[in-house]
Amino acid sequence: MTNPQLDTPVLILGGGVAGLAAAVDLARRGVASTLIEREPRLGGRASHFCCKATDACARCGACRLGELLVQAAQLPKISILTAALAVGAQPRGDGWQVDLAPQAGGETGPGAGRPLTQRTTLNTQAVILAVGGEAFDPAGKSRFGHGRVPGVFSALELEAMLAQGALGPEGMAPAKVAFIQCVGSRDVSLGRLWCSRVCCGYALRMARVIRGLLPQSEVTFFHMDVQDYGRAWEEELPLMRQELRFVRAMPGEVVSGDNGPEVVYALAGEQAQKEGFDLVVLSVGLGPPNGALALGELFGAAKDSDGFLTAGGGPAGVFVAGAAAGPRSLNESIVHAGLAASAAASRVASLLEANHG
Ligand SMILES: Cc1cc2nc3c(=O)[nH]c(=O)nc-3n(C[C@H](O)[C@H](O)[C@H](O)COP(=O)(O)OP(=O)(O)OC[C@H]3O[C@@H](n4cnc5c(N)ncnc54)[C@H](O)[C@@H]3O)c2cc1C
Ligand code: SF4
Ligand code: SF4
Repeated sequence: MTNPQLDTPVLILGGGVAGLAAAVDLARRGVASTLIEREPRLGGRASHFCCKATDACARCGACRLGELLVQAAQLPKISILTAALAVGAQPRGDGWQVDLAPQAGGETGPGAGRPLTQRTTLNTQAVILAVGGEAFDPAGKSRFGHGRVPGVFSALELEAMLAQGALGPEGMAPAKVAFIQCVGSRDVSLGRLWCSRVCCGYALRMARVIRGLLPQSEVTFFHMDVQDYGRAWEEELPLMRQELRFVRAMPGEVVSGDNGPEVVYALAGEQAQKEGFDLVVLSVGLGPPNGALALGELFGAAKDSDGFLTAGGGPAGVFVAGAAAGPRSLNESIVHAGLAASAAASRVASLLEANHG
């Protein structure tokens, strides 16, 4: 039995903010697209982020997902298939023939799209790879004690706790919290030299949420330097310096102490010291997508020296959007997706003209 066939001018892989923004942008230009998401639900990483507003909006960007989901559901030129994975791709005519396979867990309902139920072949003129990046696995930096020293969590784990309204495991109300920045970023020993761009921002927002809920708590920010986010950031940073304790030192390790995790660090020109905390949060960075190699092989997309996907140097008709192309915030990923959508729309228009002109 042959697979059912679908035709779409543009195929978008990935239903995070970048993929959704690309689909919305294309629809507004009058170009139809099919977006496929390998997971049962849309939203990507942003779907796990909670609101970080304290007395005012913290501009974390997470609300943008809700807006994009509504727009994508309303625009008729967008087809969405969830629980769908591209398992084969061949150049064909002016574009690509892509084989899709259903994945486990497909569901329907708000934010879910329509699950792919059978193997399907899809013909397209342009492909946008919006598959996101991977958060660094803190096991790769074992001296920070993740999974070994009680009280050490990754920022993603703290995010999940905050989403449940908790400030630590088992209803804990931590009096002393440490954030360790640049975990899995700017690290020669790991061969990960890039700044992940988002972790200073998310850590400081989380720190302020903690201070908002527990005003007596002390939050320490171990950092090399603080990534700048423009004018609003410049205005906020001096305020944050009053609220939070900034320590310019990259800790050597985190060990188990009698009363919780202890951070070992040395200030410039001083002896190493040990300081105890109730909670230590590792601000994990963003790296290339895990499946970059497989996708690169499928679509011939090139990779940059850090392993992120890049449209430049790859085959015609393959574009990259969002964090798959390098560390980006939600808002930056949306803007980047607009550029990919514009390039894909131009290709579709020029192929149409060439075929009919
Ligand atoms: C710990 C952490 C905290 C962060 N906090 C913030 C913050 O507060 N504010 C902010 O602006 N940014 C933050 N970011 C960055 C933010 O997550 C990214 O900017 C954003 O997720 C990028 O969107 P995206 O659509 O490119 O990728 P993603 O959100 O990762 O979405 C990619 C989607 O593609 C799907 N996919 C992957 N492979 C395939 C495939 N082969 N086929 C089909 N689908 C596939 C995935 O399942 C996923 O749904 C944070 C990042 C991390 C790691
Ligand atoms: S941008 Fe973030 S902090 Fe501001 S309201 Fe939206 S989710 Fe909350
Ligand atoms: S954003 Fe901040 S924590 Fe993240 S890698 Fe850059 S400097 Fe380090």
